[in-house]
Amino acid sequence: MSFAYFDWITHHAEVRPDRIALIDLATQRRLTYRALDDRIDRLASHLASLGVGRGDRVAVLAANTTDTLEVQFACFRLGAIFVPLNVRLTVHELSFIVGDAAPLVLAHDSDFAAMAGDLQSKCGIAHLLQFGAPYEAALSAAPRLARAEAVTLDDVSTIMYTSGTTGKPKGAMITHLMTFINAVNLGIPAFITQRTVFLCVMPLFHTGGLNCYTNPVLHAGGTVILMRAFDPGETLRLIGDAGIGLTHFFGVPSIYQFMCQHPAFADTDLSRLQMAGVGGAPMPVPLLRIWQERGCTLVQGYGMTETSPAVMMLDSDDAARKAGSAGKPVLHADLKIVGPDGEPVAPGEMGELWVKGPNITPGYWNRPEANRTSFTDGWLHTGDAARVDGEGFYYIVDRTKDMYISGGENVYPAEVEDVLYQLPEIAEAAVIGAPDPQWGETGVAIIAVKTGHDLPEAKLHTHCRERLARFKCPQRVVFVEALPRNATGKVHKPTLRERFLVRETMDA
Ligand code: ATP
Ligand code: MG
Repeated sequence: MSFAYFDWITHHAEVRPDRIALIDLATQRRLTYRALDDRIDRLASHLASLGVGRGDRVAVLAANTTDTLEVQFACFRLGAIFVPLNVRLTVHELSFIVGDAAPLVLAHDSDFAAMAGDLQSKCGIAHLLQFGAPYEAALSAAPRLARAEAVTLDDVSTIMYTSGTTGKPKGAMITHLMTFINAVNLGIPAFITQRTVFLCVMPLFHTGGLNCYTNPVLHAGGTVILMRAFDPGETLRLIGDAGIGLTHFFGVPSIYQFMCQHPAFADTDLSRLQMAGVGGAPMPVPLLRIWQERGCTLVQGYGMTETSPAVMMLDSDDAARKAGSAGKPVLHADLKIVGPDGEPVAPGEMGELWVKGPNITPGYWNRPEANRTSFTDGWLHTGDAARVDGEGFYYIVDRTKDMYISGGENVYPAEVEDVLYQLPEIAEAAVIGAPDPQWGETGVAIIAVKTGHDLPEAKLHTHCRERLARFKCPQRVVFVEALPRNATGKVHKPTLRERFLVRETMDA
């Protein structure tokens, strides 16, 4: 049985028309639900006049702006497919994605006008729509939409490209059902209501910005404040501002790390935050402790683009006691941890996490090979190693792809990085496995030291040897200014491997 898609924005425009839905910090635009609903409707009718209909793709290339969310909801009304694009990619990289998704329209902001023009000529996009004056003119001229398309929850609403942390981004097909289920799966444990005021600093082209918690907050009728691009000082100022009254915040670990290294961190009043969520990458426990000491308990969750994204979340009551755990399964998701044979491992053992449920992608756009290898009987193979403790709390160990084998023993870099982060001199740390004639592989630690600090290499080795089994201790240390990160703030290990391993093999 398939149910019709239910338009949340229209609902809230009727029930709470004057409630502020969106605030754009860069332009100071504030949109009530009534105004937002009207603008979405006019945009939908404008897109329809360009020929956009059921199943057609509409891409967006823009820094965070309320316009992007209008495009998303206009697509939903037309049964079209919303494709948010990563603005940090090059034209060459974007050509691959745009060629793959083949949108009929590319909406963009003025900063990306030249890039949009290049993409249009390279990929043959029929229409460009520039945010700002041309967009406003199109909206003013458009009538309200005569009739929304009858869309079902099983229809694809979005193609969201994965972060590209392990390779080329893949377009995960996201259905209306997945987005709705995520609003429930996150909304309940994160206490999201119509009174929620959420600051979104993560990019809307990533599931961490769009769905943690932007879409769930709009589903509940709350307020989303959009920051164009993350700024640690400005974020701390907004969190501490009583007049704004932020209740919710979400970030990947690096966002919390940059904030706690900011001079304003010590004096910011963090007490108004009801929910400070973290996920998207391994969260070092020492970083959790720094925030805890300031009276703010970060609540960890685990998810993926392909799972729209919430899969597990820590109950806020357990967040301090179970620091380091990604929590327990969210309401509508099935989880299992399997061995190499695809059979569940014994409780407490480590294996690969598989996920099934209404929050799971039906597959990747145009990727038959990935669709064949990533699913077994509807179970999505996450590629992440995990284990469960005696009380049912899950721990994400690391990506199975990042694991290396030293002297026959498996080493998960996240565990070593966690120990490295205990050293107060360290600003950023990453560990990768390097080929080694004696041990097969050994660890290389790539370290960025905090400005004004000094970290003798011998101190790092002693620290590791006192806390880690010998085979886990990095054999080599490389000091750098900063680690390469992708647009979502995750450390890009393929770049590290290319820089620190391939070159060495070539030199050898
Ligand atoms: P790609 O799939 O293109 O390589 P990606 O996996 O980084 O990129 P996302 O979908 O943004 O793309 O990220 C999902 C991944 O993020 C998970 O598979 C997992 O490796 C990591 N992750 C998410 N939450 C956590 C967490 N709480 N702890 C550790 N890792 C996490
Ligand atoms: Mg992935």
